[in-house]
Amino acid sequence: MPGKMTSVALMGVGAYGAATALNAFVAPGAPTTQGATQQRQQVRHLRQAQQAAASQGASSVNVGACALGAAALAAGAAKAGKRTPQRAQVARCATAVAKKIGFKNLPASVKAGVVTGQALVDLLGYAKEKGFAIPGVNIVGTGSINACMEAAKKAGGPIMVTFSKGGGQFIAGKAADNSDDKASIAGAVAGALHVRAVAELYGVPVILHTDHCQKAWLPWFDGLMEANEEYFEKNGEPLFSSHMLDLSEETLEDNIAICKKYLERMAKVNLLLEMELGITGGEEDGVDNSDVDSSRLYTQPEEVWQVYETLSSVPNGNFTVAAAFGNVHGVYAPGNVELKPEILHNTQKYIKEKLGCESDKPVSFVFHGGSGSSVEDIQYAIEAGVIKMNIDTDTQWAFWDGMNKYQKKNVDYLQAQIGNPEGPEKPNKKYYDPRMALRAGEESMADRLVKAMQDLKCIDVL
Ligand SMILES: [Zn+2]
Repeated sequence: MPGKMTSVALMGVGAYGAATALNAFVAPGAPTTQGATQQRQQVRHLRQAQQAAASQGASSVNVGACALGAAALAAGAAKAGKRTPQRAQVARCATAVAKKIGFKNLPASVKAGVVTGQALVDLLGYAKEKGFAIPGVNIVGTGSINACMEAAKKAGGPIMVTFSKGGGQFIAGKAADNSDDKASIAGAVAGALHVRAVAELYGVPVILHTDHCQKAWLPWFDGLMEANEEYFEKNGEPLFSSHMLDLSEETLEDNIAICKKYLERMAKVNLLLEMELGITGGEEDGVDNSDVDSSRLYTQPEEVWQVYETLSSVPNGNFTVAAAFGNVHGVYAPGNVELKPEILHNTQKYIKEKLGCESDKPVSFVFHGGSGSSVEDIQYAIEAGVIKMNIDTDTQWAFWDGMNKYQKKNVDYLQAQIGNPEGPEKPNKKYYDPRMALRAGEESMADRLVKAMQDLKCIDVL
């Protein structure tokens, strides 16, 4: 195939195709139109270019920005097979792409972009070993998704992008038919595909996760599982990295039994399960636990052991535990509930004794309702094996705060399409362009997240 024509064909794939070319849209079994065939050829060439760059021990920056051109040029260079200016350009671009091969500090399996399966297990294990936690952030659209990845890029750490059921529905659009959770499923899938299309451009590992799913919401979970299984069949990995089941309102027996049943299904497609024990107080995504009995806010070590024992028995089963230790969703005036991270320390000790294992931290904990916690409490919890903390309420506030400040600062330019303090005929388009206020929200959210990543010691860990 002539190089020039190749280039045109790949441009036709578009930005979306360029970023996802290595997974979603070139999977075996994809429609065999002429375009799809050409696309697959491009990807083969791109892979060859990456391998060539990798074998030269190359490492560089600017992941993906050259991907389009690299693939097109690689095709031409492969054909030419000699050192030409074109070839040199290929090497440069392919070298940039080769950053995907790995990071300086992280386990070799972890690459820029969406992390699943063994790479996810390795990444979480690394976090536990090094003593940092990854922020999990509820998002509602591409703006907040991108703010997460922007923060991760600035901080030099991995990030977890989390879709709640309501957040998924919002991405699909509030007017979309949400009977049988169709919009909540489709929106989460659409958001996940967006992340898969752009994540590599930020040069950081991204974990794709979903948030609290109570028993009544299992049809949503089932829909996500079908999307994962379909994606796995085509691409050899799940669409998401992990999902959360929150059956903490059920009896402990039911909670564990349902988690086990789902983990068996998830393990077949290399998905990780996050489960919840005890009750996190407060209110999140329409679930109100603000009046729950305070004794249920503290998990017992024996309960975690029962979970550990049962879920560890699932072949290829990987899981994390959100054990309540006085945490509260949302931000409230201090003094209502006392955070007791020592519960997590005691639990690790208890389970270590049960297992007779070497590790001091056999359980991987996640920290819900972390917004508003003191840095001391957060870091003490991380020492007890917390590898991920939800940062939702504070990032929601930060997004709003950024837009609010933008509005206040430019209020005189935001009252009409034409006319501002500089003159009655001056246009205000560049002020009311929705991107201006949304971008102010994104920047504010990213700044807040970088601060959170400092608290979580998730800085310069790549
Ligand atoms: Zn929770």
